[in-house]
Amino acid sequence: MSTGPEGIEEFKAAIHRYKHLLRGGEIDYDAAVRVESIELEIIERLRSEESIVRVLEAEPLERALARLRDRVERLILEVAERMGEESVEPARALEAFYTGDTSVPGFSSALVVVQAFARLKAKLYEDSNGIIKHVSPVCPVCGALSKTMQVGGDEKYYMICPFCGYKWLVSEGRLVCPYCGNSDALSVGIFSGKKTKRLGLAWCQKCGSTWRVVLDTSIRVPRLLLPLIAHGAEIYRPFIRDSAGRGGES
Ligand SMILES: [Zn+2]
Ligand SMILES: [Zn+2]
Repeated sequence: MSTGPEGIEEFKAAIHRYKHLLRGGEIDYDAAVRVESIELEIIERLRSEESIVRVLEAEPLERALARLRDRVERLILEVAERMGEESVEPARALEAFYTGDTSVPGFSSALVVVQAFARLKAKLYEDSNGIIKHVSPVCPVCGALSKTMQVGGDEKYYMICPFCGYKWLVSEGRLVCPYCGNSDALSVGIFSGKKTKRLGLAWCQKCGSTWRVVLDTSIRVPRLLLPLIAHGAEIYRPFIRDSAGRGGES
């Protein structure tokens, strides 16, 4: 994950290049770039503060955010001003973020700030632990649920966190269901196009889970864009419904 000043150029280039794959092209380019540059700048600032880095390294994300509460709230106010969000009460905005209430003023600002902390934590975690093996769809760094798998050229199957960008290894050599650990090739597989195998939709018949897979190893983008690209795999969902037939999970 690139968080340096060059990060924004990489982000812009990736959005440009993969516009056609990003959620059917409905991405608001200018808004996405504006938000990303604010987030990258906050990450850089936080990273240069030793006291913050220490708390993020020592505590799980939620506890770290609670300990850094004053700082978090001040940043929410700053971001709200920069993004033009009005009547923002940081404490309420933060609560709205946790409950998912997008109607509360400041929700987006709180999201940007919490995500900046989460991304920095992911970076620090990866610096000291590398990419860990973790057979689960739940991010070991921030606790977010991932629906996005990426296949490496070395036949490694990774999950990508849509919130903090951490990447963890689920299996090597063969597909394993991150939800239940099933590795039986007869009951866990990937639906994809016959010719273009860029994206696929994985389905585990044992536990009924489905998740999206970026199969094309030539797609190189900042990790947080992968879940948006993988979303295109939804076009294969009807195949799962057909195969599942009656009583199957959709
Ligand atoms: Zn995460
Ligand atoms: Zn499963």
